[in-house]
Parts: sequence; C-alpha cells; structure tokens
Amino acid sequence: MALMITDECINCDVCEPECPNQAIYLGAEIYEIDPRKCTECVGHFDEPQCVQVCPVACIPLNPEVVESRETLWQKFQRLQSEAKTA
Ligand code: SF4
Ligand code: SF4
Repeated sequence: MALMITDECINCDVCEPECPNQAIYLGAEIYEIDPRKCTECVGHFDEPQCVQVCPVACIPLNPEVVESRETLWQKFQRLQSEAKTA
C-alpha cells in the first residue's frame, strides 16, 4: 500500500527530502503523498523513511491504495526506468 499524510501534519518539512521517490509534496494546506510514486520505500530502504522522521506520527497506510509487496516492487522498477528516460 502507499502511505498517506493525515491532517495532523504540522508542515515541518522534514519528510519531503527523505523520500527516495519524490512522492511527497506540499499540497494546498499540508504535505501530501502521491500514491503513484510511493512504494513504502520498497527498493530503497527496509522501512518507510517518512514514517521514521515524522515527529507527529501522521503517516499511516493509505487504505484506498492496497498493494502487495510484489506490486510495490514493480512500481519501484517502473519509477526507476522512468527516471532514466526523463
Ligand atoms: S514510504 Fe517512502 S516512498 Fe512512500 S512517501 Fe514515504 S518516504 Fe516516500
Ligand atoms: S514529517 Fe510529518 S508533520 Fe512533518 S511535514 Fe511530513 S507528514 Fe507533516
């Protein structure tokens, strides 16, 4: 599953630079996660980096984006190939 940021976000800015997929961006009011780019850090790290650094623990799994580890791995590989051709 991709992760999501809840409205408890305090816009502290620390998670955005930690994301290896550039999936985190500042939305209209708080930071948001693009579910097309979030791999739960699969392919890069053992643990989701944003969750590790968030001081208010407001980054749960996104229940609307259910994905297996295999699907996350395929997403990682697609993002890697897109990055090479960009
Ligand atoms: S879990 Fe990883 S890939 Fe997903 S938003 Fe957080 S840092 Fe980015
Ligand atoms: S680390 Fe947490 S509180 Fe800070 S901007 Fe990211 S989601 Fe929001």
